[in-house]
Amino acid sequence: MRKIQMVDLQGQYQGIKERVDRSIRDVVASAAFINGPEVHAFQAELEKYLGVKHVIPCANGTDALQIAMMGLGLKPGDEVITADFTFAATVEVIALLGLTPVLVDVDPVSFNIDLDAVEKAITPKTKAIVPVHLFGLAAEMDALMDLAKQHDLYVIEDNAQGIGASYTHKDGSKSKTGTIGHVASTSFFPSKNLGCYGDGGAIFTNDDELAHTIRGIVNHGMYKRYHHDVVGVNSRLDSIQATVLRAKLPNLDGYNAARQTAARKYTAAFKGIENIITPTGSCDDCPFICDTCDCHVFHQYTLRVVNTDRDALAKHLNEQGIPCGVYYPIPLHKQKAYVDERYNEADFPVTNQLVKEVISLPMHTELDDEQINFITNTVIHFVQGS
Ligand SMILES: *Cc1c(COP(=O)(O)O)cnc(C)c1O
Repeated sequence: MRKIQMVDLQGQYQGIKERVDRSIRDVVASAAFINGPEVHAFQAELEKYLGVKHVIPCANGTDALQIAMMGLGLKPGDEVITADFTFAATVEVIALLGLTPVLVDVDPVSFNIDLDAVEKAITPKTKAIVPVHLFGLAAEMDALMDLAKQHDLYVIEDNAQGIGASYTHKDGSKSKTGTIGHVASTSFFPSKNLGCYGDGGAIFTNDDELAHTIRGIVNHGMYKRYHHDVVGVNSRLDSIQATVLRAKLPNLDGYNAARQTAARKYTAAFKGIENIITPTGSCDDCPFICDTCDCHVFHQYTLRVVNTDRDALAKHLNEQGIPCGVYYPIPLHKQKAYVDERYNEADFPVTNQLVKEVISLPMHTELDDEQINFITNTVIHFVQGS
């Protein structure tokens, strides 16, 4: 059996090596390292792929979130609601900008932000909601957009884990995640579903005016050379990263399909096993794992193990040569940087439980059946024995 990796970027590289090597050499030869033609070409290709009017590349996914919030003109004191169960970048930029983070609980099945909890958290100071398409599963966007509209709030989609996923609207039409809210952010960190070979990120929006504002913000607040109209930042995607992303973008649907195939095999193996709860899709058609849509692109394949010592399972898997991850082990509202006396433990029953039960298995485009069988057998054996 090949060595099992949490993420297999070397294996993926072998499939695109020629194109990647050639285009990196071309960028080096052209010396157009920043804002070169490769960045513009990638931007246009991603706009077309997503079906969104504007993609604004930037330096990483955390910057993308921050710049989206700056572009919307959010001001200190404004409250921004986001999920308690996610990567810290989301809450970090809210706090950095002097905005007030308001963390709310998530849904136990989808792991995404809980709509009732969002509604309860809305106050006259609330300005925006940040849903995260966590682990690659589209959040409940229609209901969220309705709620936002009712209360005149912005919706900023954190699509760092969801690129390529589709959301099916109530009327049956589909949109790619990251194109539904007022603005969205994504990350091209190497291990994301569309990753470059360094850092990278982008902001998406269908709003022309907001896109214009954001294009200035990423470039020191300049709309005309050396005229600084607003306080901006320096946040750029470089040409070498853009050219890697151009090589990968045509394969993104194939990469996501490979992840979904691996996920289906995992789920089939775990079916009926007591104490294991497998991840699920978001639409009515896919109580199991959706064959018919792309609502889940499995950035992570995350199990809940109940009545089981999750940490002992993780240790056992590692001992058997199976890498795994715990995303995330601590609710954000309990992180030292974000504790706030306004939070009430009784408001976070789901996150407080999930952090004890979740475990993410190896998930990438190169998993083979032998590896998947070994992983699932090892997990099942442990869970049944304890
Ligand atoms: C990775 C990630 C980010 C941050 O992206 P970087 O490119 O690492 O800055 C933000 N939000 C979520 C949900 C992520 O998974």
